[in-house]
Parts: sequence; structure tokens; C-alpha cells
Amino acid sequence: MNRSEQAFQEAVKVMPGGVNSPVRAFKSVDMDPIFMEKGKGSKIYDIDGNEYIDYVLSWGPLILGHADDKVTEELNKAIVKGTSFGAPTELETKMAELVIDRVPSIEMVRMVSSGTEATLAALRLARGFTGKNKILKFIGCYHGHSDSLLIKAGSGVATLGLPDSPGVPKGTAENTITVHYNDLESVKTAFEKFGDDIAAIIVEPVAGNMGVVPPAEGFLEGLRAITTEYDALLIFDEVMTGFRVGYNCAQGYFNVTPDLTCLGKVIGGGLPVGAFGGRKDIMERVAPAGDIYQAGTLSGNPLAMTGGYYTLSQLTPEHYDYFTQLGDQLEAGLKEVFEEHGVPITINRAGSMIGFFLNAEEVTNFEIASKSDLKLFGAMYKEMAKNGVFLPPSQFEGMFLSTQHTKEDIVKTLEAFDKSLKAVK
Ligand code: PMP
Repeated sequence: MNRSEQAFQEAVKVMPGGVNSPVRAFKSVDMDPIFMEKGKGSKIYDIDGNEYIDYVLSWGPLILGHADDKVTEELNKAIVKGTSFGAPTELETKMAELVIDRVPSIEMVRMVSSGTEATLAALRLARGFTGKNKILKFIGCYHGHSDSLLIKAGSGVATLGLPDSPGVPKGTAENTITVHYNDLESVKTAFEKFGDDIAAIIVEPVAGNMGVVPPAEGFLEGLRAITTEYDALLIFDEVMTGFRVGYNCAQGYFNVTPDLTCLGKVIGGGLPVGAFGGRKDIMERVAPAGDIYQAGTLSGNPLAMTGGYYTLSQLTPEHYDYFTQLGDQLEAGLKEVFEEHGVPITINRAGSMIGFFLNAEEVTNFEIASKSDLKLFGAMYKEMAKNGVFLPPSQFEGMFLSTQHTKEDIVKTLEAFDKSLKAVK
């Protein structure tokens, strides 16, 4: 038994499923979790001393790779001054200014500690601001685990086959309308029926929790037009896409401006940070400026802000050109390797997010994504791990690139795919 196996045996005794977040249990690829020890750049190392090229990157945050020198140096300086004060610090204002500068829709912002908190708060704000009750979300989009949003969600939920979790009240679910991603006609129908009472549409501008599924041409623009027509708010959940799809997030890349934006992951560079922000007239309704309550003991704490600030401030537009180059290399290589082995593959990309589906069909929504060959994915996954590549352990999650991934990493990754496909056939 190796150390990871031993560690898992101990962990399951004291934590549900042995983990603190479901997808880490590797259930959908039918294996025990790999316990990690450390990371540097594009590499992660498990407790048995194995090295992997990492495409999980803590599920997105580590856009500068593991243990970035500057972020680590600044965190070291910050930690000796104290970890949290419960009173304002100047770095919080600097961080807010930076976010406002980068994200087109954000005129004012509030920091929180996770993506879930960001979406939960944005929905309360949308409901409070519009005086309406319902929200519309898309099947297969995941927006964190708050009650109103845990309805037909993707990600860990789809993987575990729990489309509606027990514990979500029926009345809450009734206020959440779900339709297919990229299906503007269904959105129109929903608004014709319930438009008077819909507070907001919440959407991942590139879906990242059913694998990577980009918006069809005109989809985001259509959502903008419908919400404007019905006096509902458009919320972009950019927890995953923020600073990954483009230097100015997905909204900058697609040039569609929502009313509110939720952020997480990259914005904390590996520390617990989320944020929601948007139009000033809406954000001024948030307490204590306004009457809609939201708070957090550790929100904007100095360590979290240091991680976030020194991650965002190091990113440049050139990095996104580099992601495109690496993505081109990976996409072309994957197509070649899979074709050689006669295995159908569909690849979807957006900036530093890359999704491959073991599926011959173009993947535009969760229903089609679900037709992928999950058994083959699981078998291949185990081989990829043996061959030194750490992929997200689910067909419904995309791969992430960091500024530290190299062309050589991609070559090695493609060699690992070739070996792995040989082994499973
Ligand atoms: N929204 C999106 C789009 C996400 O991908 C996630 C997490 N994967 C969340 C919200 C929830 O974020 P957190 O896990 O930080 O609560």
C-alpha cells in the first residue's frame, strides 16, 4: 500500500468521503484520491514522491502556477504582520481599484471568501434590487452550493448523480427556472411565462462545469437583450472564467456587459477569495451603504488580498496570447493522437480553459456533454496519472493552463495520452 492509499484510509474515518469537497474523491474516475504534498510552477508532487504536470491547478486559481515567487514573497511579508484585523486595510482598496480597472462591468465591488458566497450574495442583491423572486439558470452550469443554485447543477453534482440535493427546500427550487445552455428560445419562452417575477439570469459566460462549453454566437447578447427588456438583471458568474478567458475576463473577450459579476478562483491566486460587483447604483444597495445585507468575518483579510492582488497585478495581455499558443499546440496534438487511436474526441477552448470530450458530436450543452464515453475517460484517467499527468478527475471539468506551463510540458502530455490510450485499448 502506498502513502496515498494509507492516508485515504485514515481520512475516510474522519471526513465524509475522506475529503473536504466531493470532486477530490476521484469517484467519477473510480479510483482513490491522490494525496498531494507540494507544487512548483506547472508541477505538483504527491506524498509518494511522484511528479505530475498539473492541469487542475487547484480547480483554476493558480494561473501563475504553484508557489509563484512574487506571491509567496508578499505572503511571507504579510503573514508576520498578522492574519486578520476585522478592520479595513489599504490593500482592500488597492485590490478593489485593480478589479474595477480590469473587469468592464464592475464599478464597485465587495470581497467575500468563496465563489459560493459571491453568487449567493449577487442573487440576494438582484432580488432585493428588482423586487422579484425568480431566477433563471442553465442546466449543467454550476454556481456554488447555495440552495437556489443547487438545481440541475453540473460539476461534482452531475458526476455524483445528485441533480437536486436532499435538503434544498421545494419552495426554493420552485423559484429557480432551468433551461438548456445556448438555447435562447427557451429563455424567451420562460420570460414570456414568468418575466414579471424574474429577478435575474445567472450564467457562466463560458460554461466550465459541464466540461468547457463556449457560448453560441449571439447567446450572451441575446441574454443581455432579454434581461434589459424585462427589467431583470444579467449576472455573469465569472468565478471560473474571470481572468482565465481573457485579460478583461469573459465579458471583455465577448464584449457583453452584465449588470453584476461574480468572481472567485484566480482572483485569490490560491487563497480563499471571491467577489461580486457591478453597476454602482445596484452595488450601493449593499449594506452598509444600502439595505441589502451581506457580511463576512474574514472578507478581504490581508492574506487573501495579498494572494489576489499580487496574482492579478502580474498578469499581462501577453499571457493570454501565450495561452492561445499553448492551447493551439495541445488541441492539434490531441486531435492527432486520438485520431491515431481511432477514439472520437471533441475539443472546446476559451483562453486558458481547454475541454476535451470523448464524444464525436459538437458539444453545446450538458445533454450532449453527457453522451461522452465516461468509462473510457475513467480508464484513460488512471493511465494518465501513472504517466505523470494530473487531469481533472471528471469528464465534466476542463483543463487549466498556467503561465508556467511550457511547450515541453505539452509535448510530454501528448506522449502520455498516446501511451495511456495504447494501454486502455
Ligand atoms: N461558480 C462557478 C462558475 C464555479 O466554477 C464554482 C466552483 N467550481 C463556483 C461558482 C463556486 O465557487 P467555490 O467553490 O469557491 O464556492
